[in-house]
Amino acid sequence: MPELPDVETFKRYLDATSLRQCITAVDVRNAYVLKDVSARELARELKGRRFKSSCRHGKHLFVRADHAIWLRLHFGMTGFLRYFKGEEKARRHARVVFVFEKDHRLAFDDQRMFGEIGLVKHVDEFLKKRGLGPDALDVDLAQFKNILAKHRGPVKTILLNQKLIAGIGNIYADEILFRAHVHPSTETSALKKKAVAKLFRATRYILEKAIEAKADADIMPKSWLLPHRGKRGKCPRCGRELKSATIGGRTAWFCRHCQK
Ligand SMILES: [Zn+2]
Repeated sequence: MPELPDVETFKRYLDATSLRQCITAVDVRNAYVLKDVSARELARELKGRRFKSSCRHGKHLFVRADHAIWLRLHFGMTGFLRYFKGEEKARRHARVVFVFEKDHRLAFDDQRMFGEIGLVKHVDEFLKKRGLGPDALDVDLAQFKNILAKHRGPVKTILLNQKLIAGIGNIYADEILFRAHVHPSTETSALKKKAVAKLFRATRYILEKAIEAKADADIMPKSWLLPHRGKRGKCPRCGRELKSATIGGRTAWFCRHCQK
């Protein structure tokens, strides 16, 4: 499921491939992903325009067209972007294809169709309406402390709450907690000052490193939880078997020995 590092990687990919080209058509192959916009409206707003820039907030990506309307992309469970040219065909799960001049194309692929594509006039208004918290990479230590101090519950549930901090999903929440040596079900009220600071630094570190690795699990350091999570996985720190538990409705992987 795409989280902040994945979406940041999509953003950089889009910036490198799809800006400044005239959009000649918008091919909606499955209207299921369209939210609050029809295929006709989407085409009408974008045809003859160019994508100028993009910005990301949490797991949302916004792409500005040259008349100040923003295309909104959310990647759901399986969404990603693919840019291709000429003879190459869109793949089976391409839901919307943006066609540029010279037949260059950008496809929004989404096998399971939990993704969303929409149009927004003002990004800030949209974020407010959705009630999204600050982007996880924009939060400073004081804000982070404040969020944990004000909200009771298992720390993992708080990290996953997009209304408090936007961008962290199941995989990276586990990774952050593993790095900070904090058990995912620890109540926020039981966290010492030092642990909170550690968690804050771990959040930054993990998200930034994951972006550097282009959110590719195969490039992540072997000392991380990610390459080992799953049945019979061993803790890369102490070699003991990893455990799983359902916390806040999601499966957490952790090491009982290293995360107390
Ligand atoms: Zn361990």
